Amino acid sequence: MDQLISIFGQGLSNGFYPVPQQAIGVGSAFEVSPHAQDLVYHVLVPLSPPPGHAFHLELDAAGVLQRNCCVHVELLCTDTREQLGEDMLCFLHHSEEELRRKQDPSLLHTLCTGTYLDVDKTVHWFYRSMRVAWLLLPQSHHWHLMLQPSGRSCRLSRDQKSFMAEVIFGVRQGDSDVFGSQPTEVGIPSTTWLETYIVAEAKFFRHISRQAPGDSWHYKCLQLLSRILVGAGFSSYALKMVVMHLLSTVPLTQWCRKDFWRMMDTLKYLHCSLDTKQLNHFVIGNERFPMEISLPSDFRVAEAPNLFQHLASNPDAHMKAMQEYVHLLLQLKQMLV
Ligand SMILES: [Zn+2]
Repeated sequence: MDQLISIFGQGLSNGFYPVPQQAIGVGSAFEVSPHAQDLVYHVLVPLSPPPGHAFHLELDAAGVLQRNCCVHVELLCTDTREQLGEDMLCFLHHSEEELRRKQDPSLLHTLCTGTYLDVDKTVHWFYRSMRVAWLLLPQSHHWHLMLQPSGRSCRLSRDQKSFMAEVIFGVRQGDSDVFGSQPTEVGIPSTTWLETYIVAEAKFFRHISRQAPGDSWHYKCLQLLSRILVGAGFSSYALKMVVMHLLSTVPLTQWCRKDFWRMMDTLKYLHCSLDTKQLNHFVIGNERFPMEISLPSDFRVAEAPNLFQHLASNPDAHMKAMQEYVHLLLQLKQMLV
């Protein structure tokens, strides 16, 4: 990804397009793989504004669990910024005529709808540029770059499609590890981005791995459980939250291979959460979230959203979730035997 982003960046130096930064590995297969046989790795590429532009994430607090946001693109005065080079004209203070003759259009005229960065236009630009950069890499002989049918994300895959890397991109919220990222589903307005904590979560797992003994099994535990979870009603995200809660309470020395019963603890915690219909988000509203991971200022003191809120208001969904839990438990017991 780093090679790709580097070529990608060089090829774009002439226009005023978002600038891809170093990619961040945000999850291995346990995160979002819908099919048990596929391994999908996720990489997030942060996008920075080009010279003369600024990005502002405008949050919409309507959804509690999934906040939407828009990326407002602002033009900045560059008259006093000598480091930008002599050739750059200020988008605010030069005439339209001069700008049209001498300079590439601003981002507002290429990838925006109104003054907002447009998801669909950005994905297509990203994919087109990736394709050009991709062909210059030797890996392109064995790996294929595809735009997903939704038209909103791209994947790199080996010939057999059993190993894939999904590339998503995001705009950083301030200087925090929280991003606005493109929704990968269709049907969401093209100026709507989704707030994602996936980078903060990945950093939490790295933080744990640095402290855990070498034979720690916490990742494997999450992966194995996610595998048997496929098809069940609760998301792998809920399971990830459970494991994160346990990792911050159960001593790390108790996650080694011989303690594989930790998987049973994970399910017990899940059971208790289902029973009480309460599973708090681990990143939002958690004052104990490691300080070294940067969150927006109000995050740690906010009220933690309940991931099982929907179960409290829907008895049928709750009953179904409990049945699926029993099924999960049996599968796990079978696997352990
Ligand atoms: Zn100016």
